[in-house]
Amino acid sequence: MNEIKNYIDGKMQAPISNEWLDNFDPSCGEVYGKIPNSGKEDVEAAFQAAEKAFPDWSNTTLETRSRILSKIADLIEEQLDILAAAESKDNGKPISLATKVDIPRASANFRFFAHAITQFAGESHESVGFNAINFTLRKPLGVVGCISPWNLPLYLFTWKIAPALAAGNCVVAKPSEVTPMTAYLLSKICIEAGLPPGVLNIVHGLGHTTGQAIVEHPKIKAISFTGGTATGEHIARTAAPMFKKLSLELGGKNPNLIFADCDYEKMLDTTLRSSFANQGQICLCGSRIFVEESIYEKFKIDFVARVKALKVGHPSEKDTNLGALVSKQHLEKVLAYIEDAPSQDAKILCGGKRVTIPGYENGYYLEPTIIEVKTNRCKLNQEEIFGPVVTIMPFKNEEEALEMANDVRYGLSATVWTTDLNRTMRLSNQLQAGIIWVNTWLMRDLRTPFGGVKDSGVGREGGFEALRFFTEPKNVCIQY
Ligand code: NAD
Repeated sequence: MNEIKNYIDGKMQAPISNEWLDNFDPSCGEVYGKIPNSGKEDVEAAFQAAEKAFPDWSNTTLETRSRILSKIADLIEEQLDILAAAESKDNGKPISLATKVDIPRASANFRFFAHAITQFAGESHESVGFNAINFTLRKPLGVVGCISPWNLPLYLFTWKIAPALAAGNCVVAKPSEVTPMTAYLLSKICIEAGLPPGVLNIVHGLGHTTGQAIVEHPKIKAISFTGGTATGEHIARTAAPMFKKLSLELGGKNPNLIFADCDYEKMLDTTLRSSFANQGQICLCGSRIFVEESIYEKFKIDFVARVKALKVGHPSEKDTNLGALVSKQHLEKVLAYIEDAPSQDAKILCGGKRVTIPGYENGYYLEPTIIEVKTNRCKLNQEEIFGPVVTIMPFKNEEEALEMANDVRYGLSATVWTTDLNRTMRLSNQLQAGIIWVNTWLMRDLRTPFGGVKDSGVGREGGFEALRFFTEPKNVCIQY
């Protein structure tokens, strides 16, 4: 039985209460490990270690910080196969995806911020006519909290931790209790890389206990959170009265606008990915597909045929396109939306049923599902399903497409397929989303701001935005 430990003060530790949670393998529905059910006292121990480490770490030269973070990146790369296999087993995602995307990106996160911190600088302003000069220091905040979800476990965990550490903060971090394994392996990598004890502390456990203890800790100065909108709301309510800095990356219900003048084959290939990559469990998946009337019937036939050809299989098999959903509870939630479709006057065009894989009968597999809807106002188009389920419907013109795209509480990303430059500019300006992709999807340059508008969150991650979040500007004005 795999026993995951907390990483506190540079050491692997059991929870103080000695209470444990089961860790499930979604590909077969069986318990394969135990994780700490950490309480307030573990979070307090992690905080104490971080607070103790802060004076030294915040005064460590940028070159040394950068070297340690680069070393972590190297070790993640060296251990690619082990980490990818662990991520795939813990989450249910195809091993091919973990190998090509999740783990390389986790390494890239550390490498990127190892470099970025050497280029990050405060500003100066000369107050002309007053014989004064202002310069702005960028001070690390102190001890910060990083909380991440289960869909891209190591990828999103490191996306927060790397900039926090690069900027000179010490961190108390919690991965999702549903997918804790690669965060645990990262602890060992940090020890091997020579990260000083207490600089990063990883505490495992449930959201409403361990996570809550991090958020309500009076001395943890900032919370960087990625997860569901309801959790984000709760965190904001808890943290705001303590005036903590908050970065909230929340849910999405992203529109995909397909115009008749697009590069059809590229669009079809990419739409397949933007719908079903990681079993549709990516906050950036385009789950509401709107297609221009004149190509709607053709798209419908082609898309259904391509989706039917996708292979749902065991995550460890190389040709698997869709692995298992992350948990039984999540599978049941997604199935409930599908079962409810007929009551919303919506038609299931393909998929919709559980898949049984011989030898893994209790795994959480689901067919990729396309549902044709009659209105954007239905529950299937308004609520985040976060599984292998997309809806499609036609639109008459650009105006109608834009209106439907924006008519939702979320605003994370939007994808537009067109070769008309003027339309690209009009829509990019008017779509209510933090990230717009035109003729592509999930193309990421780590320097760009990442985050959503409306109920998809507040704040931006990525590049210098993340380093600004994890530092406090302090202005010094000198008159001479
Ligand atoms: P979740 O909100 O249930 O959990 C996210 C994390 O928060 C977990 O570590 C959980 O333990 C913790 N948590 C739960 N309650 C807490 C509390 N009261 N205090 C502190 N921490 C708490 O989300 P999930 O189900 O793990 O992930 C899926 C959601 O994440 C989806 O809504 C998806 O859109 C969103 N997501 C957003 C982005 C983005 O960048 N915007 C990226 C990935 C996922």
